[in-house]
Amino acid sequence: MAIRPSAHTLFAHTVWRLEAMGLITAGQVGQVVVLKEPHPCGGRTWTIYKLGLDVGLQCRQCGHRIKLKRRQYERAVKAVMSNE
Ligand SMILES: [Zn+2]
Repeated sequence: MAIRPSAHTLFAHTVWRLEAMGLITAGQVGQVVVLKEPHPCGGRTWTIYKLGLDVGLQCRQCGHRIKLKRRQYERAVKAVMSNE
């Protein structure tokens, strides 16, 4: 049986390439992102606390944490704030 590279490795590589080409603005852990839909609390900005196949976001207004699938996240994110 042939040894295949793990799906995770392939996925990570693909995402890296897309990011390198500027097709995805994924952000980085610790960065602040703006989502298209505001949180029920009214907050629109979230801090990334985990970035992988799942993306963990913490609401900057109420502190609520959510996890999104990478694809959901890429659709939901509107802007990535620059790190300062
Ligand atoms: Zn909130």
